Amino acid sequence: ATPTAILVGTGRGAQMGLLIKGPEILESTKKVDTIVMDKTGTVTSGVMSVRDVTPATGFDPTEVLAMAAAVESASEHPIAQAIVREAERSAPLVEVTDFSSTAGHGVTGTVEGARVTVGRPAGDLSTDLQDAFTGAQDQGGTPVVVQIDGVSAGVIAVRDTVKPTSAEAVRGLKDLGLTPWLLTGDNAGAARAVAAEVGIDAEHVIAGVMPEDKVSEVERLQDTGRNVAMVGDGVNDAAALARADLGLAMGAGTDVAIEASDITLMNNDLLSAVDAIRLSRKTLGTIK
Ligand code: ADP
Ligand code: MG
Repeated sequence: ATPTAILVGTGRGAQMGLLIKGPEILESTKKVDTIVMDKTGTVTSGVMSVRDVTPATGFDPTEVLAMAAAVESASEHPIAQAIVREAERSAPLVEVTDFSSTAGHGVTGTVEGARVTVGRPAGDLSTDLQDAFTGAQDQGGTPVVVQIDGVSAGVIAVRDTVKPTSAEAVRGLKDLGLTPWLLTGDNAGAARAVAAEVGIDAEHVIAGVMPEDKVSEVERLQDTGRNVAMVGDGVNDAAALARADLGLAMGAGTDVAIEASDITLMNNDLLSAVDAIRLSRKTLGTIK
């Protein structure tokens, strides 16, 4: 294609809500045959809500939720926002000090003199809590464990909803000959439920991936000869977005994700990924 055609294509993209970083990007967009999608905030809305609070024996559910919410008030993770919103329905938040967070794991802080952590389980759980934990996963939810001074005090199950356009977008991507994959730090149960809902094959689901390992998963696919696009929104997606042959970031995503990507999807949905691939093929003359 002529430089003029590419400029026109890039301009068309802008009208469609695709912010394309440079003229060479359309060429890499045309070549992709595999598209890896982050789950939370990309395929799903990223707006989670609390479904269940299961306290350990001797703990009060409202108290467990309140302690967890105090720590989560310092986090911007969708799980944190769900827990804070739910707790605020019954009481104002209490204060947290010495807060810290570990990407892909959880958060910790001091609340009313106690050390509180919320996130992945640190060790074995009691039978009650383990049942609540696996039960939530089987239903496609995301359970987190609340620990108070080293004791597992309860399990909070949150759930996300799939964006209304994700299933149509996955169909569109398949129609264009791409193989969609789901890549997430979340558990396999939640990942499989979302994959089934949008039409991603179960064998193309990679779950429980640490943020630093998302990039290796993209590399593994590239090593099998695939030309890989990655779509994401989070801090934990940035390295994978940069490494992929094409990086697509949600416009509502974090700044680091947007900076690491080649195209920003201003409409915040996967239909824009379909638009981008169609546009590149039209502009570069593969389809009319
Ligand atoms: P995703 O890849 O789906 O965007 P993340 O890598 O952000 O997921 O998170 C992976 C897992 O780490 C979560 O499912 C949860 O168990 C834990 N986690 C991360 N951040 C938090 C938080 N603020 N509160 C509780 N758990 C968290
Ligand atoms: Mg995400």
